[in-house]
Amino acid sequence: MRDQGIDRNDIAEADLRTRRGVFRAVAFRDPVDGHEHMALVRGDVRGREDVLVRTHSECMTGDIFAATRCECGDQLGAALDAVVREGAGVLVYLRGHEGRGIGLVAKVRTHILQDDQGLDTVDSATAIGLPVDVRDYGPAARVLRHLGVRSVRLMSNNPDKVSALEAYGVRVSSRVPLLVPVSADNVRYLTAKRDRLGHDLPQLDGPVRLGEAPVSEVRG
Ligand SMILES: [Zn+2]
Repeated sequence: MRDQGIDRNDIAEADLRTRRGVFRAVAFRDPVDGHEHMALVRGDVRGREDVLVRTHSECMTGDIFAATRCECGDQLGAALDAVVREGAGVLVYLRGHEGRGIGLVAKVRTHILQDDQGLDTVDSATAIGLPVDVRDYGPAARVLRHLGVRSVRLMSNNPDKVSALEAYGVRVSSRVPLLVPVSADNVRYLTAKRDRLGHDLPQLDGPVRLGEAPVSEVRG
């Protein structure tokens, strides 16, 4: 699937000093979905193959408020740590992806059903007439093309994300697991992701320490 590039008036970049060191912060307004997204770039990725990449779906509750019912905040931190260890890589932070694309209000509405009726992350969405996953990875593909990344090692536990990016012309050379520890708070969510959404989550079968995730790689 070919589509348009990002207009030069819709992109700006500057160095961003963080607790993990300096990244290149590339903010862009996507020509298709209209959201403002950001790519955090470490090191030299232009023209490179097998660049370590995370496409992270916005999760205000997990990423900003460190909620423990999902593993988004831990994955965000682990992905940035992995990019720093590698010395080069890209984290694309995708807006408009709350609750796998249903939005923040709807996501919190699903939390009510999860807490009061014991529904899982899938059934709590369909119970209120909403789709399970409507995230679009076109913006990630467009910014990776803008950055000149030739192929990626994708940090994700979701095989469907590999094919979603490939559909936009991103070459995915491997998938790197990004596993966070199981806790009493997130075990139901992780189990539903494994059993209902096909995510590869071996830590549900035994302890996996944070930070070991990117060691083993599997073909995408
Ligand atoms: Zn989350």
